[in-house]
Amino acid sequence: MRIFTAAIVAGFMASAGFAQDSENAAQDDGSWAIVVHGGAGVIERESMTAETEAAYRAAMNAALDRGGEILSAGGSAIDAVEAVIRAMEDDPLFNAGRGAVFTAAGRNELDSSIMDGSTLNAGAVAGVTGIRHPITAARAVMENSRHVMLTGEGAEAFAREQELEFVDPAFFFTERRWRSMERAVGDMGLPLPERPDGAPEPEEIEEGHLDLLEREHRFGTVGVVALDMSGNIVAGTSTGGTTAKRWGRVGDSPVIGAGTYATNSCGVSATGTGEYFIRLNIAARICHEMEIMDRGAEERTYAAQDAADSVIQGDLTDLGGDGGVIVLSASGETAWSFNTPGMYRASWGSDRDRIVAIYGDEE
Ligand code: ASP
Repeated sequence: MRIFTAAIVAGFMASAGFAQDSENAAQDDGSWAIVVHGGAGVIERESMTAETEAAYRAAMNAALDRGGEILSAGGSAIDAVEAVIRAMEDDPLFNAGRGAVFTAAGRNELDSSIMDGSTLNAGAVAGVTGIRHPITAARAVMENSRHVMLTGEGAEAFAREQELEFVDPAFFFTERRWRSMERAVGDMGLPLPERPDGAPEPEEIEEGHLDLLEREHRFGTVGVVALDMSGNIVAGTSTGGTTAKRWGRVGDSPVIGAGTYATNSCGVSATGTGEYFIRLNIAARICHEMEIMDRGAEERTYAAQDAADSVIQGDLTDLGGDGGVIVLSASGETAWSFNTPGMYRASWGSDRDRIVAIYGDEE
């Protein structure tokens, strides 16, 4: 276990704007940790089928396996975060990449960001429609451009220059997301968009299943925070945003400080109604609170949990927002906090057993 003075120094340097190189932060004590979310919402035991629940638990376990394999072999947090999110973007269970929700105009507009706590470098893309792995595009923005956030066509032009993989927009199509958008658009009194070119023939979907989907998967964003053996923390988030969003709406997920934040003392990824997370600068606020706590106490064991709870159960709830966060500290402490009935979440590390949980009453 890394001692807390390391966290204090890392936190001070990060908040004072010092870029640390990974060698300075290196502890090389062989410890690593990862925490993952797959979205928060009205996820309740009563309305979940055994099959759906098993599918989510398997997906969360697979995410831990993938990240744990990289980190336990001494791989970097940035590679772990990217690899785990890429796989979740390909999994239609999640609202990221394939399986993303639709805008009111019938498109999938994807947002993603990544931040490297060791350098405070960050990259993000918003409103992209053809990049198969938006998290890889976010990483490319961070590593290969002078900018932090690129949007829409510009982001896609950059991704083409970087030779990233492009897919036909129909690749992201799932019937259930299409149908829940149609419902939302109908409720808003807007015209139904045309089914996209290349989408499969319409399938039967049980109405009850759609009700469930609307409640359960109101969110569904994915996020990962990892700590590697060199003591570096990286956070990343990827999403399709919110169902039937309009006018180029961008949520918190690609906004550094709101949906994603990392220093070398703290990393956060968020999920929930982005409009609240942006206004409260949720991810950076949690890191800031942790740093204050770390400085105020010699050894505070639950700084990540306390900071997450104070911001989610306090600030977010007071403002009327809903959702949750995952948090990781320099000592490898992982935490989550959410004010929705459930959140798909999982954690694992060199010094602890894995946890996969869905409902609010699980650990
Ligand atoms: N935070 C995302 C957004 O507002 C939605 C989500 O977490 O699912 O775009």
